[in-house]
Amino acid sequence: MADGKRMLSILYKIAEKIEEQKDYLTELDQPIGDSDHGINLARGFGEVEKKLPSLEGKDMGTILKTVGMTLVSTVGGASGPLYGSAFMKMGMALAGKMEIGTDEFLTGMDAAVEAVKMRGKADVEEATMLDAMVPALDAMRKKAVEGAEARAVLEAGCEASWKGAEHTKDLIATKGRASYVGERGLGHQDPGATSFSFMLEVVKDALCPVS
Ligand code: ADP
Ligand code: MG
Repeated sequence: MADGKRMLSILYKIAEKIEEQKDYLTELDQPIGDSDHGINLARGFGEVEKKLPSLEGKDMGTILKTVGMTLVSTVGGASGPLYGSAFMKMGMALAGKMEIGTDEFLTGMDAAVEAVKMRGKADVEEATMLDAMVPALDAMRKKAVEGAEARAVLEAGCEASWKGAEHTKDLIATKGRASYVGERGLGHQDPGATSFSFMLEVVKDALCPVS
């Protein structure tokens, strides 16, 4: 599925995607938050991008832990520690690996989900990034168990992730800033669930480049 080189290229592309979607993610954060999600993540991934050249030849653990630590230290707002822990825990789960397949990717994703749950003291149906992450992981596991290839696994994950992000419109947030607006948050899509979906989409596209 990916070696270190491909992982670094995926991370460059995530940084690019976040920059491209910065205004949209920030707009989503306006009615339910403080209009900074895109700005926060773009700052963090901008710093990540600067570190990538120094990570050439390193194992997955080192790469992902460095991404996580960079996000924690450069992203203001809740999403910094949350995505930061997610990448760090994913890195710990994949420490020493120079290459990963679908199974390892799912192990890493599982660690990421657990990290967000623990750090955010949150679970699904609270209108957070977990409403995209958890269904995405479930869908990917299901496909993998059926013996599907990485590309099909990621496609199922992306579909479930976007569906989960869409579903946050029907939920009243009980965690983070969005919980302050209560029912007024209904009808609005969670920015974190959306940014996660964009990231997973980048991973999927990296596995099946359009020629
Ligand atoms: P802030 O809310 O501090 O301004 P951001 O705007 O960057 O930070 O990120 C907001 C996103 O973080 C939300 O859309 C949501 O997905 C996620 N989030 C906030 N609090 C939690 C939490 N306790 N658990 C999980 N995710 C959360
Ligand atoms: Mg915000």
